[in-house]
Amino acid sequence: MTIDPQKLDRLAEVAVRTGLNLQEGQDLVITAPVAALPLVRRIVAHAYKAGAGVVTPIFSDDEITLARFENANDQSFDKAPGWLFEGMGQAFKEGAARMAIKADNPMLLAGQDPDVVGRVSKATSIAAKPAMDPVVGMQVNWNIVAYPTPEWAQMVFPDLDEEAAQGALMDAIFAASRIEGGDPVENWAAHSAVLRERVDWLNSMAFDALHYTGPGTDLTLGLAEGHIWKGGATLGKNGVTFQPNIPTEEVFTCPHAFRVDGTVSSTKPLAHNGSLIDGIQVRFEAGRIVDATADKGEEVLRKLLATDDGASRIGEVALVPHSSPISQSGLLFYNTLFDENAASHIALGQCYADTIEGGGTLSPEELKQKGGNGSIIHVDWMIGSDQIDIDGIGKDGSRTPVMRAGEWA
Ligand code: ZN
Ligand code: ZN
Repeated sequence: MTIDPQKLDRLAEVAVRTGLNLQEGQDLVITAPVAALPLVRRIVAHAYKAGAGVVTPIFSDDEITLARFENANDQSFDKAPGWLFEGMGQAFKEGAARMAIKADNPMLLAGQDPDVVGRVSKATSIAAKPAMDPVVGMQVNWNIVAYPTPEWAQMVFPDLDEEAAQGALMDAIFAASRIEGGDPVENWAAHSAVLRERVDWLNSMAFDALHYTGPGTDLTLGLAEGHIWKGGATLGKNGVTFQPNIPTEEVFTCPHAFRVDGTVSSTKPLAHNGSLIDGIQVRFEAGRIVDATADKGEEVLRKLLATDDGASRIGEVALVPHSSPISQSGLLFYNTLFDENAASHIALGQCYADTIEGGGTLSPEELKQKGGNGSIIHVDWMIGSDQIDIDGIGKDGSRTPVMRAGEWA
């Protein structure tokens, strides 16, 4: 084991105390790959130290996932364990918090039939709704944190041997998570305040649209009616203030699902469901992607866009400066939790209801009327770089520089 146990313990503590802000007596549901067991054990210990009720980990395993793809009957691929997600949903209804540990091997399913991967992903997304809705709706406090598995580490550091790569990825996660140097709780409070300032400025400007220009990109992205910019700490509907993502560098809001026009190119590869999609180019018309190509993984991209009605429209727009520590590390993590915090991005699919005024109380129809998108997917992809300029367009047509060459203007 090349992972420093003290660093691991600190990451676990920050995830529980700052990320979740787990409350006295609150139950906790954790999902994690078996490979992340050392981190799960530390998280469970810190959860009980923080006064947790019952902590329940639910494990997955790469080998077991592959065993299904390689051996199951065809009819298996349209099934998902709905009972499990209903149970998780029930736990959240009763007040449990949610922790997800990400350690995916980004290429796990690269050798599998994209059609089968798409079917499994669709069946799982539909079945997972009872477990996902309380999370997307911020009804419970939740947190996502990462653990460096050897397979993932070697993708990020292909020139290092397995042990060295794992240690290096741990250091990178640690640095990106703003845990180094001083008290991590204070670091996070200061970082959150900076994000809050940008959120307040964007909310005061109340732009009608954003206009992106750069290589292969000329995109006018309308913002939803009554959109609200968010970033940093989140106040959950259960009254708990928490940090959903560790790390986080983004401020984000709800785009208008029917007012996006023009072309946009991805600036980083997207690791999705064990496949890599790279060199994405799409054209939007009235909010819908009408033309999509990719240098790599085009088939997977097409399947993704065809998932349902809302899968070819966007539900999130996020701004991240090129100077963020993750971007400056120069690393490609092949993991959305990190890569989405290295660059401005948009997300295909479901919007976050709380990025629209009164969103939590609106019916799906009312949400749609304001421009909020609905889908069973939510997939972020990176469109920002140091070559992208963004203007805010006011309701009167006035233009205000928001970002120049990837930095806040
Ligand atoms: Zn985002
Ligand atoms: Zn997102």
